[in-house]
Amino acid sequence: MHISLLPSREKSLLRLHPWVFSGAVDKVNGNPKLGENVEIVDSKGNFLAWGAYSPNSQIRARVWSFERNEKIDKDFFVRKLKRCLESRSVMGFEPKGANAFRLANAENDFLPGCIIDYYASYLSVQLLSAGWEIFRGILVECLMEIFPNCKGIIERSDSSVRIKEGLEPQVKILAGEIPQNAVEIEENGLKILVDLHSGHKTGYYLDQRNARKRIGELAKDKRVLNCFCYTGGFGLFAAKGGSKFVRQVDVSASALELAKQNAALNGLESAEIEYAEADVFTHLRKCRDKGETFDLIILDPPKFAESTSQVEKAAKGYKDINLLAIKLLAPGGMLATFSCSGHISAELFQKIAADAAVDAKRQVQILESFRQAQDHPVLGSFPEGMYLKGLLLFSGSEQI
Ligand code: SAH
Repeated sequence: MHISLLPSREKSLLRLHPWVFSGAVDKVNGNPKLGENVEIVDSKGNFLAWGAYSPNSQIRARVWSFERNEKIDKDFFVRKLKRCLESRSVMGFEPKGANAFRLANAENDFLPGCIIDYYASYLSVQLLSAGWEIFRGILVECLMEIFPNCKGIIERSDSSVRIKEGLEPQVKILAGEIPQNAVEIEENGLKILVDLHSGHKTGYYLDQRNARKRIGELAKDKRVLNCFCYTGGFGLFAAKGGSKFVRQVDVSASALELAKQNAALNGLESAEIEYAEADVFTHLRKCRDKGETFDLIILDPPKFAESTSQVEKAAKGYKDINLLAIKLLAPGGMLATFSCSGHISAELFQKIAADAAVDAKRQVQILESFRQAQDHPVLGSFPEGMYLKGLLLFSGSEQI
């Protein structure tokens, strides 16, 4: 079975980009099933790659391998997973040391659509593309072999991305057992509870590990507003770092509940932490109306742009919250602002933040920039892999 591409539509594959868009496909030969491995050939019939066929997706095939002789079988996946461990190990992430890290970052780790996070002897997996409908079972076998001490594997494929692929959402224990209660991980000296059954995504946002640590270092004696706090992350690091007080804001009551438990778990009950179950857009306006100010504000919203068509609306959303936040900065205050929308480039995000500052009538300086942590590598031939960006803005005490 193979799919052949239209003339000159092979270029991106020749540059090792792992996607075949529906518009590039000329013919589908042999009636492949959802997720089935197909040969991808150019308009002259020359081999380009092996890929998983996805009849309902804009991304009609995702490349498994550019190697003609490759068999897509258990041995193939074992090798890919071992490669994942290799790059983690170089950065100091391995089950013996770090007890929570991203083991597989989808396309960026040659496992399209597959995210695997390791949380203290448990694995939480998201399978977001059609190929895994065929290879799910083999993946589980490989993981049990590579991690003989793994206590359980849960699939958290309850993502809207699956709908674009024509797949049903799925949450299922794939192996072993997953405790009902949240699992405790450790991150840079803090204990964090991760709800593997119903936490967001795979349970926790490991990608912000470095930024959370940095906020801890910057927070001493600061009055901190942590917007979109989820289970408390940035705010907990700020409190541990000696902040004067922290307000944790999120719309999710269950996330805030875990944030409270996380504070207690780390002996931070007495630290000045308050909780606001609120919409950040509204909360920032309330702060403005009350004349509140903060020394350090964190804005780590969910993805505002799910597709290119949403970029403009997303940009408005980012500008709105950044403008409001910049206005709430006390003299000498700092804003750590993030975007995890892959469709918003780092350049565009910086422009949005700069425009927000101009509209807020503040001169800000960029002191640092952030990106996703090292266990979320970006494949060189897949720039889409760089989705998370952040800026640390400084608003001096003297304004022009
Ligand atoms: N900073 C967090 C991760 C944030 S994820 C960490 O370090 O772990 C984004 C969070 O935004 C989620 O917890 C979600 O519940 C929350 N959220 C989404 N829309 C919101 C809104 N309009 N107002 C407040 N919180 C919102």
